[in-house]
Amino acid sequence: MSEVRILSPRPVRRTSTGIHRGDVMVAVHLGRFLNNRKVLTVIAMKRVRLAAVISSMVFAGASWAAGAAPGASMAAGKACETQNSKQCQDSQTPQSVLSRLQAGNKRFVKDTTVQRNLRVQAHETAPGQYPLASVVSCFDSRIPPEIVFDQGIGDIFIARNAGNVISDDVLGSLEFGSKAAGAKLIVVLGHTQCGAIKGACDNVELGNLTGLLAKIKPAISKIPDDGKDRSSKNYAFVDMVGEQNVRLGVQTIRDKSPILKEMEDKGQIMIVGAMYDLKTGKVNFYDVPDSTTVKLKKI
Ligand SMILES: [Zn+2]
Repeated sequence: MSEVRILSPRPVRRTSTGIHRGDVMVAVHLGRFLNNRKVLTVIAMKRVRLAAVISSMVFAGASWAAGAAPGASMAAGKACETQNSKQCQDSQTPQSVLSRLQAGNKRFVKDTTVQRNLRVQAHETAPGQYPLASVVSCFDSRIPPEIVFDQGIGDIFIARNAGNVISDDVLGSLEFGSKAAGAKLIVVLGHTQCGAIKGACDNVELGNLTGLLAKIKPAISKIPDDGKDRSSKNYAFVDMVGEQNVRLGVQTIRDKSPILKEMEDKGQIMIVGAMYDLKTGKVNFYDVPDSTTVKLKKI
């Protein structure tokens, strides 16, 4: 009539609180009874006191959501494992969101990304979205922002096109993301050896792509002519144009969106540029007010 089995718990991250695989809840399933119409499940705690488990789980979840590596101390301000309420969003600042993305990229580089239950996150975010950041990134298949920043469902808005161009449509999306939906950080994310940048350097013409690449060309003309090769064969030149394209993208947001410019001036949002290194997986942010980040060379 009754059976006893140990239910496999959700993976418990190892933290400084010392929870390990053996310290799990033991579920005693009393089985079916009353003509199989009702099931009574009693969860019993074994080996770990209830209070200790709850406090440890809260600690682990908060540290993770704040972007901290497992075992690290919790960041200031409450953070949510899933962005499923306005309170989760309001508890964060532009700087804390930037730190979260930086920490997430660090985990990605170290291959210590967080294990998430994406189906649970999809369910939890279905009623509404409260993302923390908007990322404008390239169409390139090798740079999915959620993955390289180690974020989950509902955490970040993403607008992608070849060359991470700031078009009017992208601007409208960013204005929705921050002004209407509360995202606190905007990242224009370029990357090394970008095919769109190479296409612009080589004056590639192909249907509608021609017009898109034309929007990258102002970045090319910003690079002083030093007599060296200015085609896609010059990798260093391609990356210089890519960086300049990001800088112009950030400036375009400020120039063409009074809404976002005002929010930035008031400290409500932060707008930053960044470059993703295809070889290392590392994201280097530009000119952010954090001495720990790498500042790329000015062009
Ligand atoms: Zn690209």
